[in-house]
Amino acid sequence: MAEPSGPLPTGRNRRVVLYGHPVLRLRAVEVESLDDRARRFLADLKATMLEQDGLGLAGNQLGEPVRAFAIDPRSTGVDREPYCVLNPRVLAVEGRLEREEGCLSLPGIYEVVTRPEFIRIAGIGEDAKPVELEATGLLARAFAHEIDHLDGRLFVDHLSKLRLALLGRRLADLEERESRAAEAEAAPAR
Ligand SMILES: [Zn+2]
Repeated sequence: MAEPSGPLPTGRNRRVVLYGHPVLRLRAVEVESLDDRARRFLADLKATMLEQDGLGLAGNQLGEPVRAFAIDPRSTGVDREPYCVLNPRVLAVEGRLEREEGCLSLPGIYEVVTRPEFIRIAGIGEDAKPVELEATGLLARAFAHEIDHLDGRLFVDHLSKLRLALLGRRLADLEERESRAAEAEAAPAR
């Protein structure tokens, strides 16, 4: 992968698309080169995650099917600055842990989801070099959640049919909010 030049540019806080946006159901496409456009996207991903108090944020949540996520390990008690991982894939998982989970694309919805207790992933770092990362507990959960996003899966997909049925009205409200926001974005500026 092409060598990047220096640290990422300053990112901007962008709209996070909501449940119902079709991009959330796509398998995000591998990043082939860390060119200026990709670096700006990663910077936006990180800035949006931090501004909107996310623990992590996947590329498609910004409305583009880019296979990368940002993560803020500090929110999980791990002392490391926020970073991005490109083209992540799961190498190994162990154990199972149940815990309540939420998502910036499904604001206001928190549900218990079973995730691996331990995860090892591989990908490409912001410096274009291959990385391997291991995590446990909340950080492992975040990695699994973000990689799910990049495969077009949302945390509510892990719920039982009954739980989903109980959320039906709220999910429909989110879909409505999303289509209104998309319409507003598509409307010509006056
Ligand atoms: Zn999410």
